[in-house]
This record gives sequence, C-alpha cells and structure tokens, in this order.
Amino acid sequence: MTDPRDLPSVDLSSEELLKRLAERGLAASAQRVALLDYILGTGEAHLTADELHQGLKGRFPTLSRATIYNNLAALAEAGLIEKLDTPEGARFGSVPDPHVNLVCQQCGRISDVLIGDRSLAALVRRAADAGSFDARTLSISISGRCEDCARA
Ligand SMILES: [Zn+2]
Ligand SMILES: [Zn+2]
Repeated sequence: MTDPRDLPSVDLSSEELLKRLAERGLAASAQRVALLDYILGTGEAHLTADELHQGLKGRFPTLSRATIYNNLAALAEAGLIEKLDTPEGARFGSVPDPHVNLVCQQCGRISDVLIGDRSLAALVRRAADAGSFDARTLSISISGRCEDCARA
C-alpha cells in the first residue's frame, strides 16, 4: 500500500502546463503560465497571494497584485490549483486533487494528506454526479495541532 502522505510530485513540462490551461479554456499569458508553474513547485507551502507576488516579482517587475489576484481566481476556479480559506486569508496550494488539509492552529503549518484508498475522491464524484454537477475544486481542512506543536 502506498503511504497516503506520498503526494505525487508536481513537476510538469511547460507543454503540459499549456495543455492544461487550454483544456480549461484559459489563455496562456506568460505571467499566468509562470504563476501556475511557480505554485505547482511550492509543494505543501500553501502560499498567500502576497507571497506569490513576492516570489514572481523578480522575473516580472511589472507584475501587479491585481494581475496575481485575477490569475489566482481563474486558476483556482478551473481546478488547476487549490484555494484554501484560512483565518489569515486565502492560501494557494499545488495539489488540486481531493485531499485533506491539516491546518495547525499554533504554527500555521498546512500539510496535504491524500486519502490512500480513494474513498474521498469517490465520495466527491458520487455527490457531484448525483447533482449533475461539474465539480472543479474541493477543499477540506481539519484544524488542530501538528505533531511538533502537540509534542512541545
Ligand atoms: Zn504546528
Ligand atoms: Zn492543500
């Protein structure tokens, strides 16, 4: 059995990124492709829009916060990235597949846990099918204390 914490490494070719954008009907502007590529490389960091802006400003000095916000909304709506609402504001994750976010209320760390037996994905699909619903994104989070904080 595979460890449910074994997340698929998201390391896509630019060709694959362009294909995904096209499939979702999104124009592949250089900034949008760079933003998507950047988020997919952040692993479990779940960064804020401001942190993503900081990270990309070096490559795109004219990149505005409004552009970041607009692109994040479009990418999340298309189900290419995860948007997670936390008490400190929205954070953006690299794993669009159904997973559970473990949010530590003490240190703020967020870990992604895929449900190994696929029951979560199946449940989501059944619910969506029952409502003839085109499901794009799913966000489940559990708040509490991470292993390190619980031990301290
Ligand atoms: Zn913690
Ligand atoms: Zn996540």
